Amino acid sequence: MLHLLKHPLITHKLTQLRRKETGTKDFRENLEEIAGLMAYEISRDLPVKEAIIETPICPCTTQVLARDVVLIPVLRAGLGMVDGITNLIPTAKVGHIGMYRDHETLKPITYFSKFPVNLSEAVVMVLDPMLATGGSASAAIQVIKDSGAKTIKLVCIVGAPQGVERIEKDHPDVQIYLAGLDEKLNENGYIVPGLGDAGDRLFGTK
Ligand code: URA
Repeated sequence: MLHLLKHPLITHKLTQLRRKETGTKDFRENLEEIAGLMAYEISRDLPVKEAIIETPICPCTTQVLARDVVLIPVLRAGLGMVDGITNLIPTAKVGHIGMYRDHETLKPITYFSKFPVNLSEAVVMVLDPMLATGGSASAAIQVIKDSGAKTIKLVCIVGAPQGVERIEKDHPDVQIYLAGLDEKLNENGYIVPGLGDAGDRLFGTK
C-alpha cells in the first residue's frame, strides 16, 4: 500500500533535491532532513507499551516504544537517509544490504548483508531514495523477509509508478512511503523528472 507524504516541508526540501544546481553538501543535508520528516510521519502508528516511571515529583504511568526499530539502507544511496532517522529514533538499530544486477541474467545479486538479530520482532524500515523499477528493492525485501522480518516499511524519497506496482505485486504486505510520485522512467531507467542519480549526487562521485 502506497502512502504519499505531502507535508509542505517535505515537498519544499524535495524541490531542493530536484534542482540540478544543488551541490553535494545541500543535497546530503536535504536528503537527511526529508528522511527525518518522513520517519516522523511514518512512526505515528508505532506500537507503544505501558511504562511506570518516577518523575522528580511522583510515580507516573506512561508509554514507551514497544518494538525495536531497525533501519536497513540499501547501499549505497540508502546510507544518506540513516542519520536523519537515527536523530529521531536514537535506539534504532541499523542493518545493511548491497545488491547489484548480474550482467547476463539481469537478476539482482546480494553482495553484502548484515542485519541485527530478532528481525522478526522489529519494525523494519528499508531505505532507498529512488524507487525506479522496484527490482532491487523487491529483491532486498525478499532477503530481509528470508532473514525473519515480518513488519516491513519501504521508505523512498521519489518513486515511479512501475516501482510502486512491482512492490505492491511482489510484497502486498509491505507499506510503501514516498515524498514524491513521479511520471515515468526514461530509457536509461532514471525517474522522470526525478533528481538524477541519488548516489552520485549524495557522494559527489560525478
Ligand atoms: N536510481 C537513481 O539514483 N535515480 C533514478 O532516477 C533511478 C534510480
